[in-house]
Amino acid sequence: MKRIVILGAGESGAGAAVLAKKQGFEVFVSDFGEIKDKYKKMLDDRQISWEEKQHTESLILNADEVIKSPGIPDKAPIVRALTEKGIPVISEIEFAGRYTDAKMICITGSNGKTTTTMLTYQTLKDAGLNVGLAGNVGDSLALQVAEKNFDYYVVELSSFQLDGMTEFKADIAILINITPDHLDRYDNEFQNYIDSKFRIVQNQTEKDAFIFWSGDPIIQKELKKRNIHSQFYPFAIERNEKTKAFVENNQLVINTLNTNFTMPISEISIKGRHNTLNSMAAGLTATILNIRKENIRQSFHDFKGVEHRLEYVATVKDVKYINDSKATNVNSCWYALQSIQTPIVLILGGKDKGNDYSEIEELVKEKVSTLIFLGADNSKLHKFFDGKVENIIDVNSMESCVKEAYKVAKPGETVLLSPCCASFDLFTDYEDRGKQFKKFVKEL
Ligand code: ADP
Repeated sequence: MKRIVILGAGESGAGAAVLAKKQGFEVFVSDFGEIKDKYKKMLDDRQISWEEKQHTESLILNADEVIKSPGIPDKAPIVRALTEKGIPVISEIEFAGRYTDAKMICITGSNGKTTTTMLTYQTLKDAGLNVGLAGNVGDSLALQVAEKNFDYYVVELSSFQLDGMTEFKADIAILINITPDHLDRYDNEFQNYIDSKFRIVQNQTEKDAFIFWSGDPIIQKELKKRNIHSQFYPFAIERNEKTKAFVENNQLVINTLNTNFTMPISEISIKGRHNTLNSMAAGLTATILNIRKENIRQSFHDFKGVEHRLEYVATVKDVKYINDSKATNVNSCWYALQSIQTPIVLILGGKDKGNDYSEIEELVKEKVSTLIFLGADNSKLHKFFDGKVENIIDVNSMESCVKEAYKVAKPGETVLLSPCCASFDLFTDYEDRGKQFKKFVKEL
C-alpha cells in the first residue's frame, strides 16, 4: 500500500491526512512542534497515527510521497533528507486537486489575496453557486474534498503552497500583483519568488482563464518572457486596447465578450485604489462564470470587507481610526497611505523583514503629521525617518500607542495602523495587534 507521510499538522496537514486516509493510503503525520487539540482529535477520530515535537526519520524516509505544510521551509533538515532520497514532496493543494473535478478559482499575489478571495467567494455564493472557500482562509481544500461536494472552489494560494504544486491546474487563475516579500525563503532572489507566483498558470490551456493586473511592471515584464496558453483577462485602472476591466468616469467597467458591466466606484463597499483592482479581479471571475450583473453589483455593494485590512474602527473627536494591521510589508502600507485623503498619524513598526522604506517616503512626507513607532526595536525606523517628519514618538505597547495617537491627532486627521512589519515582537500575530488596537480605540 502506498505510504503517505504528512509533515506539519495544522489546517492543511490535518486535512490532507483525512483525505489520504479516505483514499485508502497508509498515513502517518509528523509535526516538529506541538499539534493543536482540534487537529489531534481530527486524526484520532479517523485512526490516523501521528507524532509531535519530533520527526522520526525511520517513519518518514520510508514514504512514497510526502505532503509538506507550506510553513516548513525547503531548507529544513527533514525536507533535505527527503529530497536527497528522491521522495516527492508536494503541497496539500496539489494532493487535494487529484481527487476532485470541481472548478478551481485560484488567487495569488503579494497583497490583496484574502480580500479578493473573500469578495470572489461572496459573489459566487450570493449568486447561488455551490462553492467552497479554501487555501489560506477557511477549512483546508483537502478536508473539503474529502467531506463535501462543491462544484467550485475559491482558493487563496501563497507562494509557499504554489511551490509544492506541479500537476495542479487552476481553471481560473488570478495574479493580483508581485512585490518583494518573503525573500528570506527564496535565497534573497526576487526572481525565485516571481517564478513561484507564476506557477498559478502552470498547466493552463486555451480553455482556462488568466486574470492579472496589467499595470504591474513585474507581471508585464514576465509576460514577455513566458509562453502562457490561457485566455488573458488583464485589468488596470487605465483603459487600453487589451484591458478587460478598468475605470472610466468613476465607474468600474468590465468589458468581456459576454458582458458589459458598469458600477459606480462609490457604490463598491471596499475603498481605495487597491480595492478597485481587487474588485476587478473578482468581477472578471464572476463574469467568466456568467453571474448576472445585478447579482455582482449587489455583492460588491454588500461586501463587509475583511478584518484588519483597512478596517474602519471608529471616529473619536472628529479623528478617524483605521486598523490595517495586516499591512505587514511596505507596499500594502503604500496603498493605505494612498487611499486616505486627510493628514495622517501613522503607526509603524514591529519585526522588520528587511524593509526598504523609500517606497513610502514621498507619501509620508506629503501626508503624515506624526509618526508613532510601535516596536521592541525602532532603530531602523529612526535611521530612515528622522529629520523627514517633524513629530516622531516611540511606544512599546498598544495601550500607550493609542493614547499618544489620541493626544496628537487633530480634528479631521486619520490615525492609521499600517505597520509595514510583522507583529511577533510585541504581539502573538497581526490579528492580536489589530484586536488590541480596536479595543483601546473603543475605550477612548
Ligand atoms: P494578502 O492576503 O495577500 O496578505 P490582504 O487582502 O490580507 O492580502 O491585504 C493585506 C494588506 O494589503 C492590507 O493592508 C490591504 O489593505 C493591502 N492590500 C489589499 N489589496 C491590495 C492590492 N491589490 N495591492 C496592494 N495592497 C493591497
